Amino acid sequence: MPGVSPDLAQVAALTLEAAIPGLADAAGVFVLEHWLRGGDPVSQAADANVAVRRLGTGFARAGCLVPDAAFPPGEVLALAADSPCVRCMRDRAPALSAQPHGGTLERLKPGARQVAARYASFLAAPVIAQGVVIGFLSLARTPGTPAFDSSAAETAAHLAAQAGIGMASSLALLRHRSAADLPQPRQPAASRCKWPQIDIAGRCVPAAGYHVGGDWYDIIALPAGRTGLIVGDVMGHGAPAAAVMAQLSTAAYALADLDLSPAQVLRQLNRTAVALPRTTFATCAYVIIDSQNQECVIATAGHVPPVLATSAGTTAIPRLPGGQALGITHASYDQTRVSLPAGTVLALYTDGLVETRTRPFDQGIAELQAILARPHQHLDAACDDLIASLGGSHEDDITVVLATVTQPSARESDGQADRRGLAWIWGCGPFGEGNDVTLRAVVVGGGIGGIAAAVALTRAGIDVEVHEQAQRLTEVGAGVSLAPNGLRILERLGVGEGVRGVGVRYASAQLRLPDGQAVRHEPYQFAMAGQNVGIHRADLLALLAGQLPAGTVRTGHRCTGFSQDDGSATAGFADGTTATADVVIGADGIHSILQGFVVAPAEPVFSGVVAYRGLVPRMEDYPAGTIRMWMGEGQHFLAFPVRAGQQLNYVGFVSSGTAVRESWSAAGDPAALAAHFAGWDPMIGQVIAAISAPGGSGFQWGMYDRVPLPRWSSGRLTLLGDAAHPMLPHLGQGVNQALEDAVVLATLLGACTGAAGVPRALTAYQELRRDRTARVQLGSRRQGAGWDSSGSQLVDRRWIYEYDAWAEATALI
Ligand code: FAD
Repeated sequence: MPGVSPDLAQVAALTLEAAIPGLADAAGVFVLEHWLRGGDPVSQAADANVAVRRLGTGFARAGCLVPDAAFPPGEVLALAADSPCVRCMRDRAPALSAQPHGGTLERLKPGARQVAARYASFLAAPVIAQGVVIGFLSLARTPGTPAFDSSAAETAAHLAAQAGIGMASSLALLRHRSAADLPQPRQPAASRCKWPQIDIAGRCVPAAGYHVGGDWYDIIALPAGRTGLIVGDVMGHGAPAAAVMAQLSTAAYALADLDLSPAQVLRQLNRTAVALPRTTFATCAYVIIDSQNQECVIATAGHVPPVLATSAGTTAIPRLPGGQALGITHASYDQTRVSLPAGTVLALYTDGLVETRTRPFDQGIAELQAILARPHQHLDAACDDLIASLGGSHEDDITVVLATVTQPSARESDGQADRRGLAWIWGCGPFGEGNDVTLRAVVVGGGIGGIAAAVALTRAGIDVEVHEQAQRLTEVGAGVSLAPNGLRILERLGVGEGVRGVGVRYASAQLRLPDGQAVRHEPYQFAMAGQNVGIHRADLLALLAGQLPAGTVRTGHRCTGFSQDDGSATAGFADGTTATADVVIGADGIHSILQGFVVAPAEPVFSGVVAYRGLVPRMEDYPAGTIRMWMGEGQHFLAFPVRAGQQLNYVGFVSSGTAVRESWSAAGDPAALAAHFAGWDPMIGQVIAAISAPGGSGFQWGMYDRVPLPRWSSGRLTLLGDAAHPMLPHLGQGVNQALEDAVVLATLLGACTGAAGVPRALTAYQELRRDRTARVQLGSRRQGAGWDSSGSQLVDRRWIYEYDAWAEATALI
């Protein structure tokens, strides 16, 4: 189509489809010519003709005899200043008329004049995007249809506004491409291009019998010598799929061009897909290749998995987090960093390449791996080989893109040119200017909070080191109760299944008086039966640590100091070593050394309660899958199963005038515990008796918390978990809140578009988390008093359990 990019043509096609026949019997979409030339409007005399280009025209009745040549797409018309079409653009309002404008008719081709003369009502609506007029819609109705009225004009304005979004993106894309003189690997593309230290070849072939299709791929030059690769696949074939593809590919390109992370691109792209006027279902993979560091970050939305093929002839499918296809409902996506050594070929493709009516897709992928493992002279040859060998009869659109890093690593510095902020697009958007997908983080403390943070940060594409003072990464023998808000996070961190495997989901949650009598309560006033899970702390820690790349955790490193400047933060250790990063995270527990670098050092507050806590082997008389709390004056006793029901975790909370230091090494005296609970339900006596028997254990633990800190972050240092908000365990939320911290912090840091944005991200983290955790801290104190007064102060915990920390964080970016 002369002078009209495929993107613009597709936007026009979609607009026409939306207009006809519901709104009009005939319609045309036009763009102001000067926008196509990439220039600003030339200031013109008010009576000058206005040059517009026809993007597309449509008619209601299929088979209506309108010669194609009468309304050729790409046709340029010089419209008179007094024509309704020009007037609507000048007045920025729809213009109605009962007959065709004579001056405009004269400018149409002869065949077109006759067609236009058949219509009896006309409506021109300006296409306005971001406040700028970029074209207009021209609508017409036949004499048999009611004439356009103000309500139709309103609908047309709405439709024009929608068209404006697509047209503006297409025009921006067009300008971007012509400015950068980029090759356009759009379908049906067969391009091979040289990018910085990357060799890329791609093919995009519509299904047999179609000229266009729903597949696409794009290559985006990103700052710091990185390259984005998008491959997408809209369900269906031919023009309808291509029309959706045009919108999605344009949006994807624009999002990627903003240098968003792959996960963010897919999230925003999915929003676009969900908002499209008609049902859309598409899959997409987006990869950012960092040739300097020989690695890539991949996110996928319901897409077939990428394949890696080494120069040694081996192939692999990287383990990627799943992500739902685009267009179904709002969703989030995770991304994974994958090493991409020079010479290794990354293959992205669509299912049309691997799946046919006679070949299941896993077999197709295996065949694809076998072909990629063969030596090829160059990537073009490999693309052709793949399509020839696997494409069969081209039942579906087929796309394949191969990329390989061609030069050895030489890590580039920050501060590349062409960096952009994003706040203009999402208001309070990502933090900082410029992009750095390799932010570095040092986490001090390898407890559940620190390790969860490390997992979340790694998943957000951040390089993490954890420094733990203990010689071994371990948790002491006791259970922890996981609530829906924490379990939600654990699912997201990839350990949901593991937690279900080694933990125990409570089938029953019971409150009792000292004599064992049941206390009526609402499910949300205690642990939620069917939802909360009891788990051994060591099991949870091991599951999380198992998600980390080897070498992430350095044990035997006790942090003793901290310093920072504008560009970095450094933790110092007792052995004289230091660790420098873009951000340091203090997850070093209630006695946090790093807390003293954020707020004035202060001692934790003793609650006057001591907990006797430990594990005993499974007991025959204790009901399986049950968490039970006995409440009495001044003390309470809690039990729940862990380790798939093989052990019972218990905690006896008693008043103590003496401040006992919170410590796992302080042995809890079972006799003292038994004395406290003498005369209570015999079941408690049985549990306490089992402490001294084989397999039983007990510790004494002073219960401390702090008043909520005034702040958690200072520059590039922030706090997490008990270091930020130590709380009494009476709502069972310490670990759950640390998990929430972890995912919020990682999400906000992951949205940082550069190291410079870290302090702002940390402030946002503090602002999102502090009030909520303060409420939980204070609520835990109140709940403790409730348990110690026979449950007379039960609290509604729904605000805790129903909270989705990740969703709250992503709403900020
Ligand atoms: P920690 O677990 O204290 O980890 C801190 C880590 O940092 C440790 O590994 C430590 O060795 C390391 N460290 C400390 N200083 C340094 C340093 N200078 N250098 C390097 N490393 C350092 N929470 C729940 O969610 N549900 C429950 O059911 C529950 N029950 C509880 C019952 C009791 C009796 C208690 C006491 C707590 C309970 N909690 C519960 C709370 C929960 O245990 C804590 O909130 C949680 O463990 C805090 O995790 P963290 O990683 O922030 O800190």
